[in-house]
Amino acid sequence: MLIRKAVRYRLETTPEQDNLLARAVGCVRFVWNRALAVQKSYLDQHCGTLNYAGLCELLTSWRNSEAFGFLAESPSMPQQQTLRYLTQALKEAFNKNSVKKFPNFKKKFVHDSMRYPEPGHIHFDLNPVDRDGRKVLPKIFLPCIGWVKFRKSCIIGGEIRNVTVSRSGGHWYVAIQTEKEVPDPVHPSTTAVGGDRGVANLLTLSDGTMFLPVTAYRDLQKKLAREQRKLAHKVKFSANWKKQKAKITRLHQRIAEIRKNVLHQVSTTISKNHAVVVLEDLNVRNMTASAKGTVDKPGRNIRQKSGLNKSILDQGWGLLKRILDYKLQWAGGMLFLVNPAYTSQTCSVCGVVDAGNRPDQAVFRCLHCGHEAHADVNAAQNILARGLATSHGVASTAGLVGVVCSPE
Ligand SMILES: [Zn+2]
Repeated sequence: MLIRKAVRYRLETTPEQDNLLARAVGCVRFVWNRALAVQKSYLDQHCGTLNYAGLCELLTSWRNSEAFGFLAESPSMPQQQTLRYLTQALKEAFNKNSVKKFPNFKKKFVHDSMRYPEPGHIHFDLNPVDRDGRKVLPKIFLPCIGWVKFRKSCIIGGEIRNVTVSRSGGHWYVAIQTEKEVPDPVHPSTTAVGGDRGVANLLTLSDGTMFLPVTAYRDLQKKLAREQRKLAHKVKFSANWKKQKAKITRLHQRIAEIRKNVLHQVSTTISKNHAVVVLEDLNVRNMTASAKGTVDKPGRNIRQKSGLNKSILDQGWGLLKRILDYKLQWAGGMLFLVNPAYTSQTCSVCGVVDAGNRPDQAVFRCLHCGHEAHADVNAAQNILARGLATSHGVASTAGLVGVVCSPE
């Protein structure tokens, strides 16, 4: 079994390296935006689009030109890599079976990252000592940037696949993706469980276990709103504006970290105790799509829906599914996804479907057989039954990458 993991470390950059990195990610963003503009103009003229090789030729001509010669001062591989991503993004946007939208232009301070796809060019100095023989911070060699110190919070296990450098909240981070072949694991348990993701509870299992919701966002929301108002009063791109922007990013990071920790705890518990977990195949992105709609087609129940959106995003339903998926696979278990239609209105005992079975949010009472249960537990039992009737279950197998450690 192939296990893919990612570790993320904080870089300890010098001011000079800060400048080099900022310029390098700026160049990557420039290449993406310019190449996207070219592709758009080709599409406007009904000429199709350039393929990856065509884009690379274009990049070479830019790097050799006088106007865009600054691109040649930054590493070339991340620039080529972004063209590879753009080609992929366009392909997916035109694929009718894909939900991916047409790619957008990238913005400064939002998209500050670059990937080195070739691990052969990255080097490590993991146990350096200073002149007096004392241990100092380990270093990573990034082409065109040089040796950069980083805080190694856990070991890099496995063979390195690629390295991504990004800026967030005023700091630089490096994410290292690794691959390792291990013997196929055998799950110690043989039980299967269904899980209902909800708003009142984060997750309710078919055996009655309930996990409380994550409300990190709600708790810190007021603070966030206050800081965002302060940002609005500052001159854009001024020193104070940047400082405030970084503060807001750190607040977002804190919220995300709290949420992620809870999801990791929940998923560890479940993946250890059960070999098979069944969840609903919810398209979280569609569910959280803007409730406002458009001018021609205004949305309905906007206020309720945006409240629900916030709850869904708050809970991290999509993230929970991804984490559970790889943790189960690593443990020798499996995640199944089933059709979510009517799981909350169906009686788990007699199978009758009726909206009247749900007198309120928390209670399920079957109008046909009189079965009474907690509404979420009843739904989880339906989900489990659907998963066990395997013909409806689709084993979830995405290209899984587990993030095993990440600084705060
Ligand atoms: Zn019934």
